[in-house]
Amino acid sequence: MNKIILITGGSDGIGAVTAQLAAKEGYSVCINYHQNHIAANRIVEKINDEGGSAYAFQADISVESEVIDMFTSIDNQIGRITALVNNAGIIESQQKLVDMSGERLQKIFAINVIGSFLCAREAIKRMSVRFQGNGGSIVNISSMASRLGAPFEYIDYAATKGAIDSMTVGLSKEVAEDQIRVNVIRPGTIITDIHSKAGEPGRVDRVKEFIPMKRGGQPDEVAKAILWLLSDEASYITGATLDVSGGR
Ligand code: NAP
Repeated sequence: MNKIILITGGSDGIGAVTAQLAAKEGYSVCINYHQNHIAANRIVEKINDEGGSAYAFQADISVESEVIDMFTSIDNQIGRITALVNNAGIIESQQKLVDMSGERLQKIFAINVIGSFLCAREAIKRMSVRFQGNGGSIVNISSMASRLGAPFEYIDYAATKGAIDSMTVGLSKEVAEDQIRVNVIRPGTIITDIHSKAGEPGRVDRVKEFIPMKRGGQPDEVAKAILWLLSDEASYITGATLDVSGGR
C-alpha cells in the first residue's frame, strides 16, 4: 500500500523534521503550512532533492472550508492519506488569565483544538474501512503543559493540549473498529522557534534546570517517536499517551 502522510504545520520545527524523517521511511509527504510558504517549499525541495516525494498545501487549519479544500486537493493530487500528524499549534505571549483577551482565547482554541478535530475528521473519512479506506494511524501532538498547567505563562495553551489528550482517548475508541489507531505525544520543552514566536527566545535555557535530563529536546527526538507510533511496530497501540519530555 502506498503510504501517504499529512503533517499539519510541517513547514517548521517538529513538523518539518517529521516530514523529512517520514520521507526517508517511504511516505509520500504532504506538508501543510499556514503562512510561511518559503519554509514549506524549502522542506519540499529538500525532500525531493534527496529522492523522496513531498508536496506543500497551504491551509489555516482553524478554517473548516480550508481544511476540506486541502484534503480534496490531496485526494486529487496524491491519493487517500494513510497517516495524519496533528502537529500545527501556536503559543501566545506569556500572560496570566486576568490579562488574556477573548480574541486570544478564540484564536488559540480555534487553531490548537478545532483545527486538530477538523483534520482528524477529514482523515477518518479517507482512512476508515467503513468509507472504503484501508485503515490508518493518527498521532496528535499535545504538550506536557496539559499536565503541568503552565501557570503565569499560558494556561490557555495548556488547556488546548488537555483537550487534545481527551480527544485522543475518545477518538481512539470510536475508530478502533475502523482500523484506525489514534495516539498522542506530549513533548516537553523542545528546541524550536515556537518560543521566540511567543516572545521568549531564551525559554529553553531558562527552564532546562527544571527538566530532569537538564536539557531541551531536539525536534528529531519527537519526530522519531511520532514515526514509531505511526508504524506497524506500534500495531497494537491505540489511545496511548507518550511523553517525550526528558523526564519532566
Ligand atoms: P513551530 O516551530 O512554531 O511550528 C509551528 C507550525 O505550525 C508551523 O509550520 C506553522 O506554519 C504551523 N501553523 C501555525 N498556525 C497554523 C494554522 N492556523 N494552520 C496551519 N498551520 C499552522 O512549532 P513547534 O515547536 O514545532 O511545535 C509543533 C507542535 O508541537 C505544536 O502543536 C506545539 O504546541 C507542540 N509542542 C511544542 C513544544 C516545544 O517546546 N517546541 C512543546 C510541546 C508541544 P507557518 O509557519 O506557515 O505559519
